[in-house]
Amino acid sequence: MFDIVIIGAGFAGAVLAERFASQSGKKVLLMERRQHIGGNCYDEADENGILIHKYGPHLFHTDDENVWKYLSKFTDWSVYNHHVLAMIDGQPAPIPFNFNTMRKVFPKSLAKRLENALLENFEYGRKVPILELKKSEDKDLQFLADYVYEKIFLHYTEKQWGQTPDKISGAVTARVPIFVGRDDRYFNDRFQAVPVHGYTALFQNLLNNKNIKLMLNTDFHEVMKIEDGKIFLLGAEFSGKLIYTGQLDELFNLKFGALPYRSVEMKFESVNVENYQDAATVNYPNNYDFTRITEFKKIHPKKSDRTTILKEYPQNYIPGENVPYYPIFTDEAKAAYEKYAAEVTKYPQITPVGRLAEYKYYDMDDMVKRALEIFEELEKS
Ligand code: UDP
Repeated sequence: MFDIVIIGAGFAGAVLAERFASQSGKKVLLMERRQHIGGNCYDEADENGILIHKYGPHLFHTDDENVWKYLSKFTDWSVYNHHVLAMIDGQPAPIPFNFNTMRKVFPKSLAKRLENALLENFEYGRKVPILELKKSEDKDLQFLADYVYEKIFLHYTEKQWGQTPDKISGAVTARVPIFVGRDDRYFNDRFQAVPVHGYTALFQNLLNNKNIKLMLNTDFHEVMKIEDGKIFLLGAEFSGKLIYTGQLDELFNLKFGALPYRSVEMKFESVNVENYQDAATVNYPNNYDFTRITEFKKIHPKKSDRTTILKEYPQNYIPGENVPYYPIFTDEAKAAYEKYAAEVTKYPQITPVGRLAEYKYYDMDDMVKRALEIFEELEKS
């Protein structure tokens, strides 16, 4: 009945479902445990009529023209450049740390000296990871690296990951750069926007195909069995492809133990003011138990006397209780993942795809790019 089974209706699953259904006319069964599509990109209007991202802020940005063109077939966009402020010694200042930030937090003469030192050592417009800057021989740049490390990076990272930074992969730490220039935007990509009617609408358009059968509220364990190198769907052996975008440990009933993920408790508040803060997101590296506050009106403008904010409280992931948002990038966790990755190779029909299944920190655009590549690879095989 079905050629392909896909588990999980986030970007990985939805893009692959769309491709197989529309490009090769395959019959796709898409199963999703939650009662909605869109994975963690899911958004909906709240009581204030403001579009909120239920699983934390999702800001689309890409330099990849193919990804942009592909998604543009399923949505129109509102141009949106994300701005983030970080509270530094009680003062909001733009991040990534750039020349404007230096003018805000340092005396003018020091800011000027640091600008010159940066320009002498790095190309204008470059993003320099602070751990790279820390290696500089220049005393001023070492000072700057230490300052940013302490005020922006260290305590935020400990809060966010529950680990000291030295235990976490450079791929995460590289996400905190110093920007050599005056661009205050959080991202510098060519395309930056949010879907004009939200992500959920974009996913509805992706999945609007008669070849896709969507089953919500369905845990794949209820209908599938995976054992001894074989896959069973409702009791019968299934010989098609299985694309799995959930946690890889769950595919094998946690047989090598639970993989660690990081969770976040999302606390939304409706506030009786028109504007709550000066940017869509304000980070709190050094105070409070939450990492950041996002005000959704600033992402999806809406006229209202009230506003909706989200405070994010990082947590340990507890299976069955909260949401696994981030794989944890320690050596130990990666080694645990490798056991499951080896197990899945015994099932040539199965392709693990996505943040959870591949245990990678994909941004949305990278995820779409990867899903498009996987489609091409699977079509050839
Ligand atoms: N980070 C930080 N201070 C900040 C913002 C980010 O130390 O003010 C670090 C932190 O380790 C975080 C990582 O950079 O987990 C990535 O943050 P980003 O906001 O880019 O990612 P998101 O959580 O939105 O995926």
